[in-house]
Amino acid sequence: MVKIAIISDIHGNKEALRAVLRDAEARGAERVWCLGDIVGYGPEPSEVIEELRRRGAVLIAGNHDLAVAGKMGLEEFNPVAARAAEWTRERLTRFERDFLAELPLVRIEGAFTLVHGSLRSPEWEYLLTAAQAAAHFALQTTPYSAVGHSHLPFTAAEADGLPVMRRLEDGEAIPLGGGRLIINPGGAGQPRDGDRRAPYMLYDEDSAAVAFHRVPYDFEATQRKIRDAGLPEFLAARLAEGR
Ligand code: ZN
Repeated sequence: MVKIAIISDIHGNKEALRAVLRDAEARGAERVWCLGDIVGYGPEPSEVIEELRRRGAVLIAGNHDLAVAGKMGLEEFNPVAARAAEWTRERLTRFERDFLAELPLVRIEGAFTLVHGSLRSPEWEYLLTAAQAAAHFALQTTPYSAVGHSHLPFTAAEADGLPVMRRLEDGEAIPLGGGRLIINPGGAGQPRDGDRRAPYMLYDEDSAAVAFHRVPYDFEATQRKIRDAGLPEFLAARLAEGR
């Protein structure tokens, strides 16, 4: 009877997180799995950590979480991401930074493996191509896996040749129980597929299906908070475009 909201890349965007959780809970979600990048870029990192902790969400680490926690250098980050990570690091308490530092890179929950990037490179690989999906499947020990990091929602189904990658439409249901599958619920806190509505997936264990949903949220409120915080303007502007 369990429905689980699968979300990723919240990036300190409390408005988006709350809207997604409200929508998922209205559809019966009782649990939350979050695929990393809880913080970084967005203006309310503490509030997002608190909201996820309060719900007992199952969490893994993303590259931004590790950078903010001081477990990873900022050399690989572009200047905007590095500046946001430094801003976030200063704003969090030591307890919150330690909490992020202790998140695992990979978790297995029932039939799913959860990882931020890919099983080849949990912190860094953007899983975007069929060849990358094949390499990930070779390391996947569960029927299904869920990844984030690219902020692009998709499914990849194992096939005789290369895996078959698919983009998703709002409201689309993906049946489970066929072959092995990789899913990416998209970046709820910073969509990058040209649709500014926050994306997520709802996993229904009973009916063995995953549904993809998009939720409008008050992105202008997040933009105001980004500007008030003195974070780079680019981070506010992109939320309106979903880019
Ligand atoms: Zn991210």
